[in-house]
Amino acid sequence: MIQADSLSAAIGALYGADVTAAERQAVYGGDINRAWRVTLSNGGAVFMKSNGPARLTMFQAEARGLEALRKTGCIGVPEPLALGTDGGLGVSFLLMEHLSAGARVSDFWERFGHELAALHRADTAGLGGAPYGFGADNFAGSSPQINTPMARWSDFFRDCRLAPQMKMAAGYFDGGDRRRCQRLLGRLGELLPEPEFPSLLHGDLWSGNFVTGPDGRAWILDPAAYVGHFEADLAMTELFGGYPPAFYGAYREVNPIDGGYRDRRALYDLYHLLNHLNLFGEAYLGSVQRILDRYG
Ligand code: ADP
Repeated sequence: MIQADSLSAAIGALYGADVTAAERQAVYGGDINRAWRVTLSNGGAVFMKSNGPARLTMFQAEARGLEALRKTGCIGVPEPLALGTDGGLGVSFLLMEHLSAGARVSDFWERFGHELAALHRADTAGLGGAPYGFGADNFAGSSPQINTPMARWSDFFRDCRLAPQMKMAAGYFDGGDRRRCQRLLGRLGELLPEPEFPSLLHGDLWSGNFVTGPDGRAWILDPAAYVGHFEADLAMTELFGGYPPAFYGAYREVNPIDGGYRDRRALYDLYHLLNHLNLFGEAYLGSVQRILDRYG
């Protein structure tokens, strides 16, 4: 991964000193960063995300997540190429492999299901969890996401996922909500069993975070990666609409899903809904409270 102090230095280091950014075309769809297709003077292209200079840490975290996911070789993940800040442009930036969408393969969803399940069964040694967690903290959207290594899944999900988000959301809660939060945190050990094996997770796999790649298959983007229970990733695929049944059928062929997942799914949803409450406000309070009523 190249670290550079300007966009032109990054492009020069990647492609040769005579190569420059010929044109930048805005790409829409993300909700945090600006995104660009950068056409190079040698005819190639790279994908660039940019934001204010203080956001460099977010790009460093994203690049680490992309690298970890890519290394498994299980599923399409764009290669992070370079990052840095550019004083002239007044931005921090992340350059990665540009994906131009191909025609979807006819078994797009089956392959996606197989590939995500293979990712979840991949070896997690060396990723910095113990076994849960990750080598560095990162971000869920723009919220900080703590990845302190922990030995028990329910401890990790309580201390690094639910409790910090509940604390941030405290201003939205009344006394009853706060009591239900405490009760729920106290019961997590019985509600969340240990998985049979730890899994590297994408961490934020709603349907805006995959695209069709040049090979017509699903490529996953914009991760909040860590090692955890694969059910947390599955729950996120279902939270805002869900993928088609073919995806889940294929997933199960490679990685069976325990029947108890149905009862646990809302607990995993709670993390993302609390995060949405903290990021986007009151509209998410009702969904959070419904889950607290059920478990707290
Ligand atoms: P944000 O960090 O703001 O959420 P995203 O990672 O979602 O941004 O990217 C914004 C949009 O850019 C995506 O919806 C997708 O369509 C497109 N995109 C993301 N990564 C690539 C890439 N490597 N190549 C081409 N297009 C991409």
